Amino acid sequence: MSDNTALVNSVLDQLSASGHKKVVFCNDPDTGLKAIIAVHDTTLGPALGGTRMWNYVSEAEALEDVLRLSAAMTYKAAITGLNLGGGKAVIIGDSRKDKSESLMRSFGRFIKNMNGEFITAEELGTTTKDMEYIRMETEHVTGVPESIGGAGNPAPHTAKGVFLGIKACVKEVFGTDMLAGRSVVVQGIGNVGEHLVELLRAENVEVYISDINEERLQHVARTYKAKPISADKIFGIGADIYSPCALGATVNNSTIAKMKFAIIAGSANNQLADEQLHGQQLLDKGILFAPDYLINAGGLISCYSELTGFGKKRTVQLTENIYDATREVIRLSKKDNISTIKAANRIAEKRIIDIKKIKSSF
Ligand code: NAD
Repeated sequence: MSDNTALVNSVLDQLSASGHKKVVFCNDPDTGLKAIIAVHDTTLGPALGGTRMWNYVSEAEALEDVLRLSAAMTYKAAITGLNLGGGKAVIIGDSRKDKSESLMRSFGRFIKNMNGEFITAEELGTTTKDMEYIRMETEHVTGVPESIGGAGNPAPHTAKGVFLGIKACVKEVFGTDMLAGRSVVVQGIGNVGEHLVELLRAENVEVYISDINEERLQHVARTYKAKPISADKIFGIGADIYSPCALGATVNNSTIAKMKFAIIAGSANNQLADEQLHGQQLLDKGILFAPDYLINAGGLISCYSELTGFGKKRTVQLTENIYDATREVIRLSKKDNISTIKAANRIAEKRIIDIKKIKSSF
């Protein structure tokens, strides 16, 4: 067996293990584009997911990331009640140095060739401007600027959903969803994090913020009267809520051991380093975890509205449902004494199975 055969086998094994339908590897030497598009499931509709541009240390790391992220999109769309499947794309490279109009348009052509099976949007390392370039090649892109008929930046909707997820958890733990007087640590005050800080401060929440970008940290601290803290202080602090809005896997063996939070609720994707293990550890420790893919669905809802022509009012209504959906997950978790992530997965999987049955009976 040649090395190449071994590689293909191991990739296909990974796809089988994670239940993926299709993965497309994109290579364009003319523009330097190296990207991977993963389609996880299309039972509920076309796979919609953002395109992340990141300086991955290896192609294997990029593949692992896109497989994990695309599967989460299936669950996110399903639990939010949207008629969308799950997909995601990653472009390998440094978004500050390697991006160009031609690279993004070349990527757009690969999406075009998928004939609507995959629709993209912005994610870490990509912007509404990049979506505009992709739109020049294909209609299968959302989150383009409002000036050309799109819904624009999805981050404010994502932040609103996270805010409502926090409220639903606060209601469970403290008996009221009034946030005044509560304290929150927001880790990562980028696009979503800053909007979240604004919403929290408007309700007189005591907000601690942390970011590796010192300039941004000071700016957000000044603008909203939030308290900057260094990264090493996050897990020792006695705040009520931890809101991860930067990277995934920040909830792990070492951080859980230090945590004194009552609630974890943030926008970052895949916050639990190991879903089963750490979901259970949080349950055992009495820390309420708001499933990330549920409460960060506001951005996806905004993209869905753009696709379906729903408009802003419907986006707001659908985003507001995140409060009730979070309460529903908490109820199931308590009833069956299972972690909230397991409860959320059950609800999402049930919807996919139910719709599959309808499809096969007609
Ligand atoms: P962003 O790039 O605008 O902001 C991320 C921020 O985190 C930046 O300010 C960055 O400096 C900071 N950061 C990076 N590493 C850090 C670290 N180790 N500690 C502290 N801060 C760190 O991204 P965003 O659009 O705000 O998204 C934030 C998270 O939410 C990401 O995980 C993203 O995948 C997820 N998410 C975003 C959306 C959306 O609508 N933008 C939707 C769903 C999920």
